[in-house]
Amino acid sequence: MSSQTSPHLAQTAAPAESVRARRRLSPDTARVLPVLGPVTLAGAAATVAAVVSFVASGPDAETIVGSLALLVAAAVAEAFPVPIEGVAAGRTSLATVFIVAAAALYGWESATLVAVVSMAGVELANRKRPSRVAYNSALYALSAVTAGVVAGIGGDGLGVLVLRTVLAATAFYLVNIVLLAAIVSRASGEPLIPFVGRYFRSTGAPFAIMASLTVVLVALWDRSAVLALALVAPLAAFALYERRMYAAFMKLRELDRLKDEFIAVVSHELRTPLASVYGAAMTLQRPELDATTRRSMLDIVYRESARLARLVDQVLWASRLESGRAQASAESLDAASVAHDVVEAARAHLPDGLTLDFSAGADTPPVAGDVDKIRQVLVNLVENAVKYSPDGGRVEVGVDRSGHFVRFTVTDEGLGIPVGEQRRIFEKFHRLDPNQTRGVGGTGLGLYISDELVRLMHGQIWVTSEVGKGSSFAVELPRADLTS
Ligand code: ADP
Repeated sequence: MSSQTSPHLAQTAAPAESVRARRRLSPDTARVLPVLGPVTLAGAAATVAAVVSFVASGPDAETIVGSLALLVAAAVAEAFPVPIEGVAAGRTSLATVFIVAAAALYGWESATLVAVVSMAGVELANRKRPSRVAYNSALYALSAVTAGVVAGIGGDGLGVLVLRTVLAATAFYLVNIVLLAAIVSRASGEPLIPFVGRYFRSTGAPFAIMASLTVVLVALWDRSAVLALALVAPLAAFALYERRMYAAFMKLRELDRLKDEFIAVVSHELRTPLASVYGAAMTLQRPELDATTRRSMLDIVYRESARLARLVDQVLWASRLESGRAQASAESLDAASVAHDVVEAARAHLPDGLTLDFSAGADTPPVAGDVDKIRQVLVNLVENAVKYSPDGGRVEVGVDRSGHFVRFTVTDEGLGIPVGEQRRIFEKFHRLDPNQTRGVGGTGLGLYISDELVRLMHGQIWVTSEVGKGSSFAVELPRADLTS
């Protein structure tokens, strides 16, 4: 029974709030102590009392086995909280279903033990702070005791059992929410009542769902504990489905965020060259302009319009790849000559302080691929190597045989990429934090496009890199002499 709103629920119910609260909690333990201290002590006392009373009551085998089964279920539920659809509360722990069931079926002692062991076990396994483990376990213990006492009202029959279960669930929920709001409001220095109100609003729906679930579980268990096992499959399916939906939803939300960021970046990237072209055009209108200035203005127009064209190309390519309209031919090509052309073109506008070298293995075999697409990939890698080497250094483009493949490499001595980001930079729109790239601009599309193009040509692309030392991008494409 029960409902919930375990500390987990509340944390996810108001994520920003709880993050804020957690951050403030550790430096300011003094502030939360008036709540933390008494609740933890009362929880510890309740736990000791539950152990003593449980042992003294000489529980029968059914109670011991039943309590253990509910304990395992509660621990699993606590460890894998489930997002409940339509509930604005993030992920919800279903552990209280089993704790309240223990209260209704076996009494407050069993419920308290199930609550404390499952909560403390999962919190410790997740390496939470000791004060948090203590508070959350105490909060569960006190909620479970209350639920057990309420569930202890006498009477027989299914109706009474259902009523006892609902009341126990409600009692658990109320104590849980109030104690949780008490510590969070104390930590944040905000008044308690608005917190309680907000928590009730965001957790009312999961409470109702879990209370119903608990009633079903208790009613089945009361007939036969084995019968209650029939709930395992639908519950597991529900949990897995909801978790998967939630993961997909979070991914979509992240993509949406990245798209917004992309629009802002593209607008900025469009505006900058446009402003340069506009400025150069205005200057070119002046009749008294000398030949040198005229040439440098034309140079700006050429360079900046090329930059604009590249940007628009990237956007078009991304949408073409997205819709699956892109195709690649597989011609037999001289890999060294394709890479050499790209290097020569890049040399024409290399920033000062940067050297660009090229090397090709003596017996590099022909590569099977689409010349334009290979060039596009290499151009992007070389441009990135140049762009993300703001302090100069050396960029080296290499091509060589690699087993059944031809391998192109583009190596720089630039900013480098943290290990955790080395896969993600190939995702659409993904860019490193501007602090890590010293604000170098980009759309986050280049490597996504490269990855997709390489895949179209049955190859692979990856990076090895060390922050502060540089990066080496490798592209492997099939050898033309081995493909029939
Ligand atoms: P962008 O247009 O932002 O450069 P890319 O898809 O080409 O987009 O690259 C994605 C991100 O990967 C970049 O924003 C940058 O943070 C990182 N990156 C790519 N190449 C390099 C490199 N050679 N050195 C360091 N970081 C790089």
